[in-house]
Amino acid sequence: MAKIQMKTPLVEMDGDEMTRVIWKMIKDILILPYVDLKTEYYDLGLEYRNETNDQVTVDSAEATKRLGVAVKCATITPNAARVEEYNLKEMWKSPNGTIRAILDGTVFRTPILAKGITPYIPTWTKPITIARHAYGDVYKNTEMQVPAGSKCELVCTDKDGNEIRSLIHNFADTDGIIQGMHNTDKSISSFARSCFNFALDKKQDLWFASKDTISKKYDHRFKDIFGEIFEAEYKDKFEAAGITYFYTLIDDAVARVVRSDGGYIWACKNYDGDVMSDMVATAYGSLAMMTSVLVSPEGVYEYEAAHGTVQRHYYKHLKGEPTSTNSVATLFAWTGALRKRGELDGTPELCDFADRLEKATLQTIEDGIMTGDLYLLSTLENKQKVGTEEFLIAVAERL
Ligand code: NAP
Ligand code: MG
Repeated sequence: MAKIQMKTPLVEMDGDEMTRVIWKMIKDILILPYVDLKTEYYDLGLEYRNETNDQVTVDSAEATKRLGVAVKCATITPNAARVEEYNLKEMWKSPNGTIRAILDGTVFRTPILAKGITPYIPTWTKPITIARHAYGDVYKNTEMQVPAGSKCELVCTDKDGNEIRSLIHNFADTDGIIQGMHNTDKSISSFARSCFNFALDKKQDLWFASKDTISKKYDHRFKDIFGEIFEAEYKDKFEAAGITYFYTLIDDAVARVVRSDGGYIWACKNYDGDVMSDMVATAYGSLAMMTSVLVSPEGVYEYEAAHGTVQRHYYKHLKGEPTSTNSVATLFAWTGALRKRGELDGTPELCDFADRLEKATLQTIEDGIMTGDLYLLSTLENKQKVGTEEFLIAVAERL
């Protein structure tokens, strides 16, 4: 068989620990034999980030802007223990945070469904994709504990020095707490456009919710910006694609989500997304079956697994012990990126290859061959737990 050709390279961001081991296995066993793979390679492994003073992360994000599609391996976000373990010059920032800031993107997380892995909410027969607004609100807040007798106000000084004041609360006879937070029209607009673009890309309905009845200025601004951008830029495109934009109150959205059968994109404000993405991931079964894609408002895509570097398995691997680490989400990051590359370049063979590779992966699990994490969850009768590499070989046989 002649290898499938690529026109434009992908940005390849290598990473750390067990996922770095899996990265190479996926390429060697499932991609390089079939695709004449073109990538611009960036080593985001912690050693090289440290060596380059994290410049490599910035370079990889700039390359993604230029080439349009990236695939990223999980990476260590250093903490004090990692600074010691890797003898770091500094506690480098989260690469995902750096890349997201440069691309101004929104993260969409989608579960991968396979027969035998039943969601805790059994009506969820189709995936629910969560988009979390990753800027502002309570994550960039200012807060205070205040003593009894305090009068607390919001003060805004405009560019001419005029003050606008608004009473928060008079703490007459009790101590208390206050909090100030913000968001920007720019960030909310970027978030909205990323969501509308992604819905068109996936041909799925988009839901958005806030608490605009209670928060008549703050949350209402989110509702208005989404509504205005939809009317002005996306309404016709949505109609042509046969999909809808649906706004409701957050509590109503939660009730509808639980009753639904899935198959849509749920855009969430920052805090809602933080909470709901963990709820949705858990309900679908396993973090190891969750993919993640960062989409910029200009339509640049970066694919990765939602899980981390699986440190505990890596230490076993280093000791020469057998591992059974789930590679599915990392594999789907590769297929997502290859398919997107194929779509942008007009190379349907590449899209077709991505489809087949995903199908072969699901077929393997549905044939009862799976890694330990899924083995614990699967309701199939003839199931067999296999090692990290064995699983990929079983996928290759089906591919
Ligand atoms: P993790 O790597 O997601 O793993 C936590 C646990 O979840 C594992 O110990 C394992 O449970 C299970 N698990 C996760 N992925 C799995 C897979 N593919 N197959 C089988 N089991 C899987 O989270 P962590 O241990 O908290 O973080 C490790 C490192 O990853 C940290 O340095 C963190 O900074 C980084 N991280 C990176 C990203 C990213 O790059 N996007 C995201 C999150 C975390 P058992 O041990 O019970 O088998
Ligand atoms: Mg959370």
